[in-house]
Amino acid sequence: MSFATQVRGELARLYPERMCCGKAELAALLVLNTSLVNEEGQLTLAAEFENAATARKVFSLLKELYALPATVSSVEKRRFRKTRVYLVKSDLNETNHEILRELGLVNHYGKFMPRVRWKLLNRNCCRRAYLRGAFLSRGFISRPEGNYHLEIVLNDAHIAAALLKLMARLNLEARLTERKASQVLYIKEAETIVDFLRTVGASKALLDFENVRIVKSMRNNVNRQVNFETANLAKTVDASVRQIACIKQIVDSYGWDGIPAGLRNLAELRLEFPDSSLRELGEMMVPPLTKSGVAHRMRRLEEIAEQIMLPE
Ligand SMILES: [Zn+2]
Repeated sequence: MSFATQVRGELARLYPERMCCGKAELAALLVLNTSLVNEEGQLTLAAEFENAATARKVFSLLKELYALPATVSSVEKRRFRKTRVYLVKSDLNETNHEILRELGLVNHYGKFMPRVRWKLLNRNCCRRAYLRGAFLSRGFISRPEGNYHLEIVLNDAHIAAALLKLMARLNLEARLTERKASQVLYIKEAETIVDFLRTVGASKALLDFENVRIVKSMRNNVNRQVNFETANLAKTVDASVRQIACIKQIVDSYGWDGIPAGLRNLAELRLEFPDSSLRELGEMMVPPLTKSGVAHRMRRLEEIAEQIMLPE
């Protein structure tokens, strides 16, 4: 099961306790997924969901909050690949118009025009419920083991802008981008994703996310330490390779006599112990030499070799 499916599953089973929040969440679930079908004078609300638990939630909220009888059926659809969607349907009559208006599905004149209904969002509890509904119907979150990413994909610029505003009121900073014909609200920062999960009430997912994040940051620390040590070792080896080449250059050209007596002992040690650091070479010398003393002598060896290599 993907992490996104896990989060959606958790949120679908979370039922708002207050009526105000129930209406807000239902409005968000419907506003992004509903069409009104008029068949021979019979108006039917039809909302489509990819997740069965979400469809059941819409079904229950319609019944509990508005006493609207509904049905849920599963339909096989062929989009890019075969998918199963869950269709919630409810037959409406004249008296139900006020419900559609309250949920933000129709405008003043009864025309179908899904919008975020700010009247439902006066309280923070309701704003959180609305955001939960929006994520449930259009949200996606990447597994925390990879790159941090959460998004809500919308096909209506008005609703996208309104959701961005709603998130800002909940202190969630999201960004808005366009992808083909869709608007995408997204969050890349782990901290903000954690805040988002907390805000919509996905506490189990929040714990899982944080656990992975802790393991990842520990692993990064270990890697940084290892990288640091590897880099130092690589530097020592690079220098050693260069020094050995210089010494061999001198010896090839002039024999060991080409190396001044004071440097000869060090040159021999270098050839014999290519992996040793300057400090270690210094300790092997008689009398012992400090690291900077060794470095100084090495530089002189390199200078002599460079003289040899200079074009006449
Ligand atoms: Zn509320």
